[in-house]
Formats: sequence, C-alpha cells, structure tokens
Amino acid sequence: MKSDNQKYHFAVFGDIHGRIALMYTLAFLWENESGIKLSGLLQVGDMGAFPNPFKLDDATQKYAQIDPDELGFHKFCTQTEESEFYLARQNTPNTYFIRGNHEDFDYLGSFSMPESVVPVQRLHFIPDGQQITLFKHSERITIGGFGGIPPSTEHRARGKKARQKYRKGHRQVNIDRRFFSELKAKSAFNQSEKIDILMTHAGPQCPDLQSGSIYLTELAKRIRPKVHLFGHHHQVIGPCQGPGNSLLVGLEHLDFNKKGELKEGAWGILTLSGDSANFTFSSPKNFPFLKTVKRETYRSLLN
Ligand SMILES: [Zn+2]
Repeated sequence: MKSDNQKYHFAVFGDIHGRIALMYTLAFLWENESGIKLSGLLQVGDMGAFPNPFKLDDATQKYAQIDPDELGFHKFCTQTEESEFYLARQNTPNTYFIRGNHEDFDYLGSFSMPESVVPVQRLHFIPDGQQITLFKHSERITIGGFGGIPPSTEHRARGKKARQKYRKGHRQVNIDRRFFSELKAKSAFNQSEKIDILMTHAGPQCPDLQSGSIYLTELAKRIRPKVHLFGHHHQVIGPCQGPGNSLLVGLEHLDFNKKGELKEGAWGILTLSGDSANFTFSSPKNFPFLKTVKRETYRSLLN
C-alpha cells in the first residue's frame, strides 16, 4: 500500500449513530481499492458514544429498536470480538471525533483533553475548543473540534416575545448539554495555533445553509480553517466556499435507505497537500465497490 508521503488522505463521516463497524468497513474497502493508506478517519459528532447500552437518550433508544447498530459504540469501548476485528488490524487508522447532540454527555464530559477512548487506542475524542496535531514528515495538520448544537435562538430580536424566547434559549444551554453557548463559541481556539481542519457538529449559517448557526459562522470567520466539516442537518452541502474562505462540506447521516443501500452524501475522502484541499463525496459512480455494501451483508465484506 502506498503511503503517499506528500499528501494526507482522510475518510470523513457524517453522524454515524453507533455504526463504527460500518464506518471502518468503508474505510478499509477504500484503502484496498485505492491502494492508498488513510491518515485517519474524521467523524463530525453523533458518534453515538453510549458506553452503556442501558443508558441511552430517548431518540437513540427508539432507533436502536429498529436498528441495533445504533448501539455499536459499547462494543468498541471494551475488548470484544468486534473491536478486535476492526481496531486491532495492522495499520488500522485512527478516528478523530467530536460530540454531537446524541451522546452520553456524562461519559464524554469526563474527557478534558483530546485522548483515545479507553481502552481502545484508535478512537480519539476531541472536546470542544481543543485540537490535535498530526505529523507526517515535514507536514503537520491541526484538527480542531467544536461539537454540540447552537442555542435555539441565536440573535436578540426586538419585542417582548422575541426577548423572552432568546433568554429561554440561553437558559436552556446551561442545563442541557446538547448545546454549546455563545461564550464558548466566541472563546474557542483563542490561544490556538492555526487550525487546518475544523470539525463542528452543526453547520455555519451561509448561503447554502440558511438554517446554520450564526455563532459557527463567526467562529469560522475568526479562525479561517482550510477545511470546515459538519454533519447533523441531514443535508449534503458542498464542497463549496464557506465562511472564513474554508472548503466547506456538510454530510448526511451514515445509514442505509429502505432498500438496504447506503445513503449518498454521508462520507467522502479529504485530501490535503501543501495549501490545497480537495474533497470527494463517495458514490457508487466514483467508487463502484460501494454497490456491494448492503445493510444485511456489509459485515462479511472484509476478511
Ligand atoms: Zn445531530
């Protein structure tokens, strides 16, 4: 397998909601097909980080009854046949992920610095406003994370009702850990070195995403990342020019459709080389091997 010294290749995934086995299957199949080694997997939150399958949020509990893959995370945070199979392979690439709005926040809150999810040494969580730096020969890449979702009302409007709504939204942020606060967004990465890749869970408000977050737009304009990746909205955005002159990519959730085929727009390949950044969404048109990946059979595709 080529290590492709001059370039970084990342497989980027939207919300996976526990589908770690599927995520790694796709990454390994891509490596096999392309002959190129991945520098890592990037996951933009809603990993479904529930280490205890009996301590879930309501949405996850509901969806897990339809698809047990939603509970996948707990099989990867202890030594199991599944975690061994996917993570203990030779040269398994690391995954770097942030928090979404469907996770066990007590659990993720116990990580104050970027670190691997114990005891699995392959899944690295990046807490809000923190970053990790990867080195490859003379090139270094810094990946910054800022997860969660914005307050329900982001700007102060005129009128009593609007003011009440704004205040309610901001009170909610203090008690409900799915949200990030305006203050956190304003102070994130203030001391940091340059962020090359910014991962946020929600997307920035921009012409292609009117429902995006104003605070995330301000964040991207301030830190000017080369690449800005996000998920959450069930919308495929870009690759296009985003706030702060970044290459902006919004991803679908990684899941199968009713026919048991992969939904499009949930993952792709990011290539960084010097100052250039390039993103390609995966689709059976450019990656024909994807036609073989079906809900019922994907686990048998690797050997
Ligand atoms: Zn989400």
